[in-house]
Amino acid sequence: RSTTVPNIDGSLNTEDDDDEDDVVDLAANSLLNKLIRQSLVESSHRVEVLQKDPSSPLYSVKTFEELRLKEELLKGIYAMGFNRPSKIQEMALPMMLAHPPQNLIAQSQSGTGKTAAFVLAMLSRVNALELFPQCLCLAPTYELALQTGRVVERMGKFCVDVEVMYAIRGNRIPRGTEVTKQIIIGTPGTVLDWCFKRKLIDLTKIRVFVLDEADVMIDTQGFSDQSIRIQRALPSECQMLLFSATFEDSVWQFAERIIPDPNVIKLRKEELTLNNIRQYYVLCENRKDKYQALCNIYGGITIGQAIIFCQTRRNAKWLTVEMMQDGHQVSLLSGELTVEQRASIIQRFRDGKEKVLITTNVCARGIDVKQVTIVVNFDLPVNQSEEPDYETYLHRIGRTGRFGKKGLAFNMIEVDKLPLLMKIQDHFNSNIKQLDPEDMDEIE
Ligand code: ADP
Repeated sequence: RSTTVPNIDGSLNTEDDDDEDDVVDLAANSLLNKLIRQSLVESSHRVEVLQKDPSSPLYSVKTFEELRLKEELLKGIYAMGFNRPSKIQEMALPMMLAHPPQNLIAQSQSGTGKTAAFVLAMLSRVNALELFPQCLCLAPTYELALQTGRVVERMGKFCVDVEVMYAIRGNRIPRGTEVTKQIIIGTPGTVLDWCFKRKLIDLTKIRVFVLDEADVMIDTQGFSDQSIRIQRALPSECQMLLFSATFEDSVWQFAERIIPDPNVIKLRKEELTLNNIRQYYVLCENRKDKYQALCNIYGGITIGQAIIFCQTRRNAKWLTVEMMQDGHQVSLLSGELTVEQRASIIQRFRDGKEKVLITTNVCARGIDVKQVTIVVNFDLPVNQSEEPDYETYLHRIGRTGRFGKKGLAFNMIEVDKLPLLMKIQDHFNSNIKQLDPEDMDEIE
């Protein structure tokens, strides 16, 4: 593991950092996504629906009014700035709010409106006059639970007397306390403890059970089993809802075990393509040479914003220092930062406070920074056996076909790495043109 020592000026020293960022922390990534997400991710894909009873008519809504929500909830939704349901909400909300309640498994990428949907379902089924837990939501970490709780508070702003409580480690409840809050959000272990050992929650009174971030959940040892134990103690008429951003077989198997008679809704992800990206490479001797090439390019094109990818923390740090010393305004995003620090760096970059973001692989996935027009691979992405990492290459520079603006990608290549680049070119069947960094006219 690396050691991190903050300097007086807040910058960081790191040692021994060659292979860090490869460990992707799913829960941290998910939290980061939430922290930097301010609006919906729109998808052009159709929503696929599998009904538990295929003969029953399929409802969808184009407005929130059609859902016949309580007045105070509708007010809450509009106060959040929502005008109409997102793509997945159009199909999911009628099922979630149906009488009698229906169970649902829903999968779509983060940012498509899943949380808002189940929060709405919880708030619409809660009875403010009854002072005991009625809705239970399981989340993989405390931080993620807190994010969901914030949505409940904002959307439920006008629902007086509806309250949230967090069942998480560290939230100490004195012996003999009666839990009167209607909505409980917590992590599986603590919820289990509160239900069975401490008897703070009576599971037989729960009306809505939500399992959020199922893919992150099953990634954590013990959480699947704990969730299943909780689910088994729920009454049969309790509505059960499961959400996930991804749907590998393991997630699907878990979902089917835990949600009886479900409707299933899926929204496919936009496919990344390299079609509207112009790709170039510059042949270099060594790291200094790469840096020189980068400076030439940087001087040649100052439109828009750029992300520069390095393979290791050490390289990223080195490059950041070099560029700063040359008077460029750059920021460094790397794995040693906390999720909050990362979110704030991404936010500053989005606001255009820095034009260049230098990073390792942490920010290659999941984060869409729309205004980025230039991507530089200061190092080519390779896997452990020094073969090209095609997927990472695609994620770094790929854009969704339909919404994609034109983009530029530059690869800084040491001569001995050229075969790797040729493999990438063949793999994607695309054209990566050689560039003479002294002659930027070729680009335009
Ligand atoms: P997910 O749970 O799928 O990651 P969220 O429910 O967190 O998605 O929604 C992503 C972002 O879009 C949030 O900022 C949320 O406030 C916003 N959002 C959700 N539903 C709508 C809607 N119908 N209209 C506008 N914004 C929405």
